[in-house]
Amino acid sequence: MTATVTTPSSIESIPTGLFIGGQWRDAADGRVFDVENPATGAVLAVVADAGPSDGDEALAAAVAAQSDWARTAPRYRSEILRNAFDLVMSRQDWLAEVMTSEMGKPLAESKGEVAYAAEFLRWFSEEAVRISGDHTTTGDGANRIIVTREPVGPCVLITPWNFPLAMGTRKIAPAVAAGCTMVLKPAPQTPLTSLALAAIMQEAGLPDGVLSVVNTTDAATVVVRWMSSGKARKVSFTGSTGVGKLLLRQAADTVMRSSMELGGNAPFIVCADADIDAAVEGAIAAKMRNMGEACTAANRMYVHRDIAATFSERLAERMAALRVGNGLDSSTQVGPLIDAAGRAKVQRLVDDALERGAKALTGGQLPEGPGYFYPPTVLADVSTESELMTTEVFGPVAPIVPFDNEDEVIRRANDTDWGLVGYVFTQDVDRAFDLAERLEVGMVGVNNGVVSNPAAPFGGVKQSGLGREGGKVGIDEFLEYKYFSVPRRRGR
Ligand code: NAP
Repeated sequence: MTATVTTPSSIESIPTGLFIGGQWRDAADGRVFDVENPATGAVLAVVADAGPSDGDEALAAAVAAQSDWARTAPRYRSEILRNAFDLVMSRQDWLAEVMTSEMGKPLAESKGEVAYAAEFLRWFSEEAVRISGDHTTTGDGANRIIVTREPVGPCVLITPWNFPLAMGTRKIAPAVAAGCTMVLKPAPQTPLTSLALAAIMQEAGLPDGVLSVVNTTDAATVVVRWMSSGKARKVSFTGSTGVGKLLLRQAADTVMRSSMELGGNAPFIVCADADIDAAVEGAIAAKMRNMGEACTAANRMYVHRDIAATFSERLAERMAALRVGNGLDSSTQVGPLIDAAGRAKVQRLVDDALERGAKALTGGQLPEGPGYFYPPTVLADVSTESELMTTEVFGPVAPIVPFDNEDEVIRRANDTDWGLVGYVFTQDVDRAFDLAERLEVGMVGVNNGVVSNPAAPFGGVKQSGLGREGGKVGIDEFLEYKYFSVPRRRGR
């Protein structure tokens, strides 16, 4: 199977098959699908489109490899991850070009994502050799309690298109470190990055069957068979809350361990005493990373009424100056959205806000021409009734709502089913901690528009998810406790 259109040439070197049990191959029924460049609408590559029997084979490979893999030495698994880190970083430019081509984000952001994604490989190479247990004695002194940790078993990993490399390594690296085998289903918009990663993992020394990658346009059929098999013991999903709930229902039937990294609706709070320039830069980081197509994106900006006009003007000025274009052009700061449906949703939400009285300080209009571009947009005086206050916008749109006091802003910020991340900007330390503690979220950026870091536990509360990825606890999601009860000679 070969790629059809070759812009850039780096795409030619990506395998386009399915990666099952350490082998590259076509789909059993020969089906393929196109991968598009969202900046041009051109077909970048044609990749194999797995059906149910391909998926079943991938899971069978994971099941077959599990027991030997679980018994490998931690240092062996650690060194595979460290090799993978080195390989990913040595190919940072190549991977960035591939990612930008299929996903659209500017090259500089893709390079940043490659480094971020690689760091999970390095972080968990370090964690693999630190899996610890416990040893205690029962209260009556009759038994020793020896607690060990074992890999949970074959895992189903499902990733979205917005961070195609990092969402993969954030799951693969802890699973490898823990000694789990896995089947990965990447998003159909961005399979090339995952296929490139699979090739790197194999080159780094990962044994056959430990990781399979199954690209498909029929996720529902392929995945439900994994979920109902009784053989896969864990599902780790990153994507929308709706699909997460569906997978949780499926997981219930076979009582699978479940980690869910779902949607967000992040409040971004700017207090009257905030350093306004720092808050504007924080807003740009929290809003415009990945063109706003991030679960951590600032979705609702609450700005104290005393500074709302100044903040809005400065943010609009910064947003209007950002260069929009093809991400492969090194001067581009804002790439296209992922596809026509994603862009249509953003436009619908903006139109709704404008109809309800919001003012567009910049942007708000669909541009002409090819590609799924949307201009950086700042909306002032947004009604809290607007749909974009309750829906993940997933685009470069900053809606600003003024507030008058802290109780009011906390009530509004928490008035949502989501709870992934929140942001607070203030120069008063007490106020910062007070507001951060009162936000119902898993993560808070305090005078900081970027919270993601491999050394930190990433995840949300409420309908934003279950479990954490990264940090010291990231490996726990892939481990089970087992305890041995061993009688001891009784003393007094
Ligand atoms: P999505 O539509 O939920 O898709 C995510 C993945 O699930 C894709 O691979 C998708 O494949 C697959 N999928 C869809 N239906 C499925 C089914 N019935 N069974 C099994 N798999 C299924 O989400 P998205 O639009 O790609 O990503 C955006 C969402 O991800 C946003 O809500 C964002 O907030 C969230 N996200 C969360 C985090 C986090 O860490 N909390 C990080 C990044 C993104 P198909 O496309 O083929 O259906």
